[in-house]
Amino acid sequence: MMEAATSISRNLQAVKQAVEDACGRSGREHGGVTLIAVSKTKPLSMLQEAYEAGARDFGENKVQELMDKIPQMPSDVRWHMIGHLQTNKVKYIVGKVYMIHSVDSLRLAEEINREALKKNVAVRILLEVNVAGEESKFGITVSEAASLAESIAKLPAVRIEGLMTIAPFVENAEDNRIYFQKLRQLSVDIARRNIDNVNMGVLSMGMTGDYSVAVEEGATCVRVGTGIFGER
Ligand SMILES: *Cc1c(COP(=O)(O)O)cnc(C)c1O
Repeated sequence: MMEAATSISRNLQAVKQAVEDACGRSGREHGGVTLIAVSKTKPLSMLQEAYEAGARDFGENKVQELMDKIPQMPSDVRWHMIGHLQTNKVKYIVGKVYMIHSVDSLRLAEEINREALKKNVAVRILLEVNVAGEESKFGITVSEAASLAESIAKLPAVRIEGLMTIAPFVENAEDNRIYFQKLRQLSVDIARRNIDNVNMGVLSMGMTGDYSVAVEEGATCVRVGTGIFGER
């Protein structure tokens, strides 16, 4: 007998379908978007349900929570650190996470580099850009991004893979389209500089309220929590 799909597995399928639809509307190839299941504050049982339903990319925003969850989940999970990262906590996650989305200073990148060299690994990072210029948010400004990329590019164990943004909280997702367009344009501008050791292939943008618009504007990674796991 077939088991009834859990709500997490149904949600996951619905989000995947919506991503596919957004790809279709914007003439993008299907399969070009990674869905990150943002599991912060959620218990392990819910992560396991998502894993069984096929999720392999999980996003967390706190170092302690990552450290607790990583050893309890299968080793093929790709963990994404999406929250603000303090330099004194870098040592706990280097070598354990697939990508750090929230790099917003040279000092933080240098610390990541130091730890990565110690552990003999390379660390994939994204530069977090505060595209809307919100005071309450972390992230560099659009005008700082290229020069920060140039400085970080010199660190041998850090690989810049692209850009990330957290768009404003809005009622109407369309209001964020302009910020997604700006992040994409910034990534094109930086890619044109052909900086050694800097890749602009990843655009991490879009959350539960606005991921369809983000995909239409070129997101390669969407970070969806509530839409998969329910309200926090
Ligand atoms: C919590 C969080 C998300 C997911 O938010 P939802 O609105 O629940 O989808 C995405 N990105 C970051 C950086 C987050 O902290």
